[in-house]
Amino acid sequence: MGKYRALVLKYNLLRLPPEVAEKIPALLRVQEEFRKWAAEWAKSGGSLPPPERPLKYFAEEFLHAGNALGLKGLKKNGIEVRGARPPLIFDAQLRLSKERDKSRGILVDIPRRGVRIRKWNNGNTITLPLTDKAVELILERTREGGKLVMAAVWIGRSRRSRAVKLYVALTFRREIAPMEAERLLVVDVNALHNGLAWAVVEGERIVEKGVLKPNISKILHLQKVIARLDSVCAEKDERCGEAMAVKSRIWRLLREWEDEAAKKIVGLARQYKAAVVVDMPNDESMRELKEGGYASEKKVFLNFGRIRRRLRGLAEWYGVPYREERLYSTVCPRCGRKMEELPNRRVKCQCGFEAHRDEVPIYWAQRRFPDLITPSFSSSSAVLRITAPAA
Ligand SMILES: [Zn+2]
Repeated sequence: MGKYRALVLKYNLLRLPPEVAEKIPALLRVQEEFRKWAAEWAKSGGSLPPPERPLKYFAEEFLHAGNALGLKGLKKNGIEVRGARPPLIFDAQLRLSKERDKSRGILVDIPRRGVRIRKWNNGNTITLPLTDKAVELILERTREGGKLVMAAVWIGRSRRSRAVKLYVALTFRREIAPMEAERLLVVDVNALHNGLAWAVVEGERIVEKGVLKPNISKILHLQKVIARLDSVCAEKDERCGEAMAVKSRIWRLLREWEDEAAKKIVGLARQYKAAVVVDMPNDESMRELKEGGYASEKKVFLNFGRIRRRLRGLAEWYGVPYREERLYSTVCPRCGRKMEELPNRRVKCQCGFEAHRDEVPIYWAQRRFPDLITPSFSSSSAVLRITAPAA
């Protein structure tokens, strides 16, 4: 079965070399024109003929990508959800050493450490640099058996910093047989401020369990630094930039930790031949997490949605079955009654069952083991969600 994984390269428009920056308005025009066509095409139910050059190339690659990634209903409905603002899709080649240039839209040139974007405007080429980190990730995907099959390019605003960036999403494809799960790896994200609690379960047995935690003391320390800088900034209008810089640093630390945690979880799943079962928090418990019980300086905000996307994407890439389930932490796994909540996040049932709240999902996984281990896992195409721009 073919699995896809995207690697997104980001370039801040303000930091592009001048010879690249001067080509951006023209690329933006092509993007806008293509989006106009795509919107019309979707509205026509897919019956609109292909546009003229250079848009013809993008229309063909767009349809090809939709078919390859198995986007259901692409032709009937258009890709209505994200389709209003599709990226420019290119065919792509990865050059690892001295392979011949196949004149595809994107050439990722490892020896020259650059990405060339072509076919968008009469032989005009945009050449972007590749960082060491990007090269490393590309080579890692290649070592895992991934082949570069296409690339998506778009210009848009970063959701976080609001800076306008040029994005290049390299999509790799890999053939892999789905793993046959013998165990379950239960991941509890209900207590994100405490990290991720996990347990490997085999029938009634807990094989191993643990908690992955970010460096909380370091983050709390940085939060104190921010508070101090913020008050200096408010009173004297000084050191405001420093405060922003420390905030960015926390943000990066958390994102890096989330990536590492997802890697570790999927690594454990492969090691134990376990299907990943993520206990989904409901809206109520998310709200409780955000508002309740914890002193604000002790709150460390991990991005639940992002962890979830990382976990799902990585699990798919390695052929690890992945499933999201609600495993209630306040309903008794023995008798099904609503449990009483005790101090220190413990819960107790009338039937005598008592446990730490965060461990209840593990009991649920043990109880539902036969049902959860059956391979009814769906492998949604998380790929285009990554390759397509969010806004
Ligand atoms: Zn009970």
